[in-house]
Amino acid sequence: MSKYKLGKTSLKRLTGVDKRLVEIVKKAIEETNQDFSVVEGLRSAERQNELFKKGYTEIDGYTLKSSHQLGLAIDIAPYKNGKLLWDFKGNEAEWLEIGRAMLRSARILGYNLEWGITYNLPKGIDLPHFQLK
Ligand SMILES: [Zn+2]
Repeated sequence: MSKYKLGKTSLKRLTGVDKRLVEIVKKAIEETNQDFSVVEGLRSAERQNELFKKGYTEIDGYTLKSSHQLGLAIDIAPYKNGKLLWDFKGNEAEWLEIGRAMLRSARILGYNLEWGITYNLPKGIDLPHFQLK
C-alpha cells in the first residue's frame, strides 16, 4: 500500500507537464518510503529569464529554452521532519531514495528519464531535476 501521495500543491505544479512525466512521478510517490514534493513544473520564458538573471542557469529562456518550458522536466525535493530538503550533504539517503523511485518508475513505464544528479554544470549537479529524454 502506498504510504504517500502527491499533495495539492504538487498536483497543481504538474499542470502542463508532459503526461509521461506525470505518470512517472505519481507512480514514484506510491512506491517510495520517502515523501517528496513537486517544487516546479512548467516554466514560462519570463520565469526562466528571471532564473538566468539570478545566475541559477545558463539558459535565458528566449534564445535557449529550458526543458521546463517544454513541459519535459520537473523538479522535486524530499521532506524530512516536515521540511523540504535542498542540500545533498547530510541528506544523501533521502535524495537517493526519491531519485531511485523516479528512475525505477520510468523504467517500469518504459520511458527514458534522466536525473540532474548526473549533470556536470558550471554550478555542479542539478539534484531536484528530472527530465524526459
Ligand atoms: Zn529543473
